[in-house]
Amino acid sequence: MLSDKDRIFTNIYGLKDKSLKGAQSRGCWDGTKGILEKGKDWIIEEMKASGLRGRGGAGFSTGIKWSFMPKEVGDRPHYLVINADEGEPGTCKDREIMRNDPHTLIEGALIASFAMQAHACYIYIRGEFVREAEALQAAIDECYANKMIGQNNVHGWDFDFYVHRGAGAYVCGEETALIESLEGKKGQPRLKPPFPAGSGLYGCPTTVNNVESIAVAPEILRRGGSWFAGIGRENNTGTKLYGISGHVNNPCVVEDAMGITMKELLEKHCGGVIGGWDNLMAVIPGGSSVPVMTKEMCDNAIMDFDGLREHGSGLGTAAVIVMKKDTDIIKAITRLSDFYHHESCGQCTPCREGTGWMQRMMHRMVVGNATVEEIDLLEAVTRQVEGNTICALGDAAAWPIQGLIKHFRPEMEARIAAYNAAKNAAA
Ligand code: NAD
Ligand code: SF4
Repeated sequence: MLSDKDRIFTNIYGLKDKSLKGAQSRGCWDGTKGILEKGKDWIIEEMKASGLRGRGGAGFSTGIKWSFMPKEVGDRPHYLVINADEGEPGTCKDREIMRNDPHTLIEGALIASFAMQAHACYIYIRGEFVREAEALQAAIDECYANKMIGQNNVHGWDFDFYVHRGAGAYVCGEETALIESLEGKKGQPRLKPPFPAGSGLYGCPTTVNNVESIAVAPEILRRGGSWFAGIGRENNTGTKLYGISGHVNNPCVVEDAMGITMKELLEKHCGGVIGGWDNLMAVIPGGSSVPVMTKEMCDNAIMDFDGLREHGSGLGTAAVIVMKKDTDIIKAITRLSDFYHHESCGQCTPCREGTGWMQRMMHRMVVGNATVEEIDLLEAVTRQVEGNTICALGDAAAWPIQGLIKHFRPEMEARIAAYNAAKNAAA
């Protein structure tokens, strides 16, 4: 359990003063210049030592990612890009940082930019996040006015911070589609490699980081990488924002330690599952792109990258979607199929065609208008999409269906049997 003194986000609910003065009174912007004076190599080594794994969903080491940038700036400028296109269904954690604790992010952006020798940072904010963009812009303006950022600022590293608002495409949260969109092009993912550190924004060395990954960096560097590494478990360190939605008594976004059990997370912060733990049917533990878990799998599940992988699922964005026993799980997964089909950019055939196939078959599965053999056919389609696409959207569309078939096949077969029985009775 996380103690209050280890909490990084001190205003996640927006109950305190979020202005520069208020943020400073809570420790933000404390000793920032001193951190920069320790040098970029020290910063990157501390970030590696912290064990911080990217909070956007993939869990790639943040310190290692920063170290991929060229050591010196040649004829191409370096850029930091912050991914705030938080569009994963169920995920709503970064929006709380931008709305209520924006100075953690701005300070982190300055430090990360210095470590990677970037003088400009672009933040790409989901278009629907109007209040968040306004709150962040107000905080940025305040920082410029007080010479915390900008040219000749008090920290001695020239740094400009630009807010760019997206236009509603989920796929623009994929880092290379985001870069295309920032460049003014249609937001479609690029093939990787090259990774952005080699060729990113305008063909220049670029690092794309999630909002939370950047916002926790200043506190890690103030307290030391070993402090962060001491929270959680090996390879799964630090504090984490969890966003819990669905059938709990008190849905919320909360910061707690990595490695907390799912049961404790739901009972301590959310007032438990509606109707009690035994009324739980299933949980999608990491945003809609990870496979669903049954109640039995949830009983002892540990909320971190390795703990959830043991159950064939994943931490993803730590967006925990809770479903109680009377949920129509087939319908719930079908909603996700609708989403992924709608959001496919259409660039590669397995995703463009496969998401349509999966969506249409899932709609028949909801009412049971299918044969039992078609469940196997549906699974075969997901296997043909998985791993055969340019970006992770194809996998994300396939995995929830695979989880449904693996864990809830009897429910699917029962739906088919009931539909056919009703049809035969009517004939
Ligand atoms: P990824 O594993 O391909 O990459 C993760 C990061 O590591 C990227 O920045 C990538 O450039 C870097 N990287 C990986 N291998 C590298 C290498 N060999 N060299 C240099 N850099 C390397 O995953 P992804 O496609 O960026 O992200 C997928 C995840 O995004 C999913 O797990 C999903 O949970 C999450 N997601 C989040 C949201 C959201 O709203 N936050 C939305 C959609 C998806
Ligand atoms: Fe576009 Fe889908 Fe291919 Fe991703 S997997 S590039 S979203 S068509």
